[in-house]
Amino acid sequence: MIDLHVHTARCGHATGEMAQYVEAGRARGLDVMCFTDHLPMPEPYPQHYTMKAAELPAYVADVLAAACDSRATGGPEVLLGVEADWLPDAFAHVEGLIASHDFDLVLGSVHFLGDWAFDDPDLIARYDAWESDVLWERYFDEVANAAGSGLYDVIAHPDLVKKFGTRPDVDPRPWYEQTALALQEAGCAVEVNTAGLRKPCREIYPSLDLLKACRRRGVPATTGSDAHAPAEVGEGFDLARELLREAGYDSVVCFRKRVAEEVAL
Ligand SMILES: [Zn+2]
Ligand SMILES: [Zn+2]
Repeated sequence: MIDLHVHTARCGHATGEMAQYVEAGRARGLDVMCFTDHLPMPEPYPQHYTMKAAELPAYVADVLAAACDSRATGGPEVLLGVEADWLPDAFAHVEGLIASHDFDLVLGSVHFLGDWAFDDPDLIARYDAWESDVLWERYFDEVANAAGSGLYDVIAHPDLVKKFGTRPDVDPRPWYEQTALALQEAGCAVEVNTAGLRKPCREIYPSLDLLKACRRRGVPATTGSDAHAPAEVGEGFDLARELLREAGYDSVVCFRKRVAEEVAL
């Protein structure tokens, strides 16, 4: 299996040394793992979710060194990626940083609605200001915008809006169709992200219905643990594989130098 979504302590909210993540990937029997720490965001976005911009070159150097070490010791192939927020008012900043290094993979993530990091447990009180249908509609509109931006190879945790268990009153499937269409038109892959199993929603991102909509439109899929600790690398991948099969997938895609290559499930 391939784990294309792994964080490092540089983001300030993950624990463990990079070598421990690679060791954990080896213990899980992963073929490939990709570090995808958070890309720095410009002011006035909060600065505590990501590494500082000045740290980005050191992050890149650390991943390349970890890749060398892993190769020398028969470990999993280690790739260089990044998780870049969809910040519609900071497009040039994000585009510039993505272009500043030779990444294998760029994950696109909607974590912000305006200035609200809606997936931050410390900001959960702000859900009270939203009617759930309005929140879901706004969220999926931003996912479509992110896919259509052309910045990203993969849209990560594509229904993150469910993280804390918020559900819409209406049938969400039209939003899933909209998302699948946006991914298809943009040539983006969809991420099957097992972190949701560890969150209050207690299920993989995305839901089976959303993944089926992607499959119907021929959108390729990747797998990621979104590990923020070494023990989380490759976690829940048996369930991810089951979900993919149930949705009709028999392969996923891996990215090297931002080019997709099919890998059998
Ligand atoms: Zn994320
Ligand atoms: Zn992440």
